Amino acid sequence: MASANRVVLVINSGSSSLKYQLVDPDSGAARATGNVERIGEESSGVPDHDAALRHAFDALSEQGIDLRACGLVAVGHRVVHGGNTFYRPTRVDDAVLDKLDELSELAPLHNPPAVKGIEVARKLLPDVPHIAVFDTAFFHDMPPAAATYAIDRGLAERWQIRRYGFHGTSHRYVSEQAAAFLGRPLRGTKQIVLHLGNGCSASAIAGTRPLDTSMGLTPLEGLVMGTRSGDIDPSIVSYLCHMAKMGVDEVESMLNQRSGVLGLSGERDFRRLRAMIESGDGAAQLAYSVFTHRLRKYIGAYLAVLGHTDVITFTAGIGENDAAVRRDAVSGLEELGVVLDERRNLGGGRGARQISAEDSPIAVLVIPTNEELAIARDCVSALSG
Ligand code: ADP
Repeated sequence: MASANRVVLVINSGSSSLKYQLVDPDSGAARATGNVERIGEESSGVPDHDAALRHAFDALSEQGIDLRACGLVAVGHRVVHGGNTFYRPTRVDDAVLDKLDELSELAPLHNPPAVKGIEVARKLLPDVPHIAVFDTAFFHDMPPAAATYAIDRGLAERWQIRRYGFHGTSHRYVSEQAAAFLGRPLRGTKQIVLHLGNGCSASAIAGTRPLDTSMGLTPLEGLVMGTRSGDIDPSIVSYLCHMAKMGVDEVESMLNQRSGVLGLSGERDFRRLRAMIESGDGAAQLAYSVFTHRLRKYIGAYLAVLGHTDVITFTAGIGENDAAVRRDAVSGLEELGVVLDERRNLGGGRGARQISAEDSPIAVLVIPTNEELAIARDCVSALSG
């Protein structure tokens, strides 16, 4: 199909914010981008997702963009959890929306706002296909050895408990970009991708297939994150319920919202955490050490999962910008084949770049993620497939 100036509106609808981007899937250019924040807060003037999306449309028309006359071919919706049901970009109709609603039980924090966003957007843009793209999709075919929890099998089957993995759109996009950057065929490339943003996850990928990833049934497992604990002894939950008389929902929200780097230091943002460390704050230093220690452990584990590794790539807010995290994650791994070039690592720049030494057996890269573009391209292939 001729593709003159077609665009996809990508919507990422969270509980209190709605991010949107108008993307040209062919050139990769973002025609417009925005974020409506503090949805539901009284002072914000944005009472709900309906109002948020209307705000977004107003902002677009103020920039001279008419969604009905700009070549809009699809609206792509980022949905966190696809469960066992959805692992391909899926055109949304009423039946799909009902199924997505049911899946909210598996992802009570993440899926309901996405479902809300889809409902509102379908109402406002009824003549364009709406396509859901799932964060779990990339990991659907992970080997059973990595996807299975060693718990009672009947219960796991009855309640669809497995390791689903998240940030899949980013892990896939970045792994493709990393192979292209190195001029290697994706199929023959074995890699570790470290997505370090507010949420953090690691994956081990052989060719196009992920062999393991750090997030599990929900995005709580694995690495230490801004506000999430990552891996803990599951007995901590019942221990707190018994000893601190906390309700199980209270423990769950503590682990998701008041743990991780925030729980240890009082600060979730890595830029401010760095400033605290520099001013001698011991709690901030500990939070940082716990974060980087966990990251190194996962890198080590995934070197073993892959057997042979060609490339390790850092991406997302922290991975793309924080040179100290990158250094502390891989320093001392020279005997395992990872040799950083400290000058390149500190060099900054914004685009894709190599930060390993020329003779490092394993290349280390920084690649900016672009989930919106990946979602836009998924939408276009879903329409043509
Ligand atoms: P999200 O998961 O919400 O998309 P991002 O990928 O934007 O998050 O990552 C947010 C994190 O990146 C925050 O902890 C922020 O402090 C960190 N970050 C952003 N820019 C920098 C920077 N220049 N140096 C260090 N950390 C940064």
